[in-house]
Amino acid sequence: MRIILLGAPGAGKGTQAEFITAKLGVPAVSTGNLLRSAISEGTELGKKAAEYMNKGSLVPDELVIELVRERVKAPDCQKGMVFDGFPRTLAQAEALDRVMDIDMVLFLDVSDDAIVERMSGRRTCPKCQATYHVVSHPPKKEGICDKCGTALGIRDDDRPEVVRQRIAVYHKQTEPIVNHYKNKGLLKVVKGQEKLEDTTALVAAAIGVEV
Ligand code: ADP
Ligand code: ZN
Repeated sequence: MRIILLGAPGAGKGTQAEFITAKLGVPAVSTGNLLRSAISEGTELGKKAAEYMNKGSLVPDELVIELVRERVKAPDCQKGMVFDGFPRTLAQAEALDRVMDIDMVLFLDVSDDAIVERMSGRRTCPKCQATYHVVSHPPKKEGICDKCGTALGIRDDDRPEVVRQRIAVYHKQTEPIVNHYKNKGLLKVVKGQEKLEDTTALVAAAIGVEV
């Protein structure tokens, strides 16, 4: 199954991608995570990407498209994947259309206010990139990643002024692709809920699995 998770920054795409991965056994392809890995490895791509990401702008399409093209060739993507944070522009969506057919697009619909609230409490593992929230999704041990035991941190681009820029970029560049997938008949809207487990239950229903 090939699934795309669409939604604003902080809508909970990463968390739902982890859920889908666990339920369907398909890998999550997160361009944000791929880019952050490139940055921490100090590759040329990482150096270029960091300039855009730290400002809250999108990384140029050709860099991201090439990154995804390479990633989906890996054997673990044979059975499908869940895209998180990709596509983010119409050009990326059209490039993906040329590479593969998608089965379902889940749009996590969340208000701007909820997004700002969520991002302010977000904590991220610098090693394995798992994400938490101080209130709605805390780690078992405060400040420590459940998965790998590393001390959690705050992403550079989760600072409030950068968050506002990312939301503006989302409305301008990413929201239009909701219609692209609606027109293809692939879109399912999942209304973001106050409680994480309620959103997860809606996602489970959409992909036809038990929670
Ligand atoms: P969020 O969904 O919370 O915004 P991501 O980890 O998906 O976080 O993205 C962080 C940053 O990485 C974005 O603000 C952007 O600069 C860059 N990025 C991630 N995915 C893409 C993409 N598909 N196209 C362009 N830039 C991207
Ligand atoms: Zn971790």
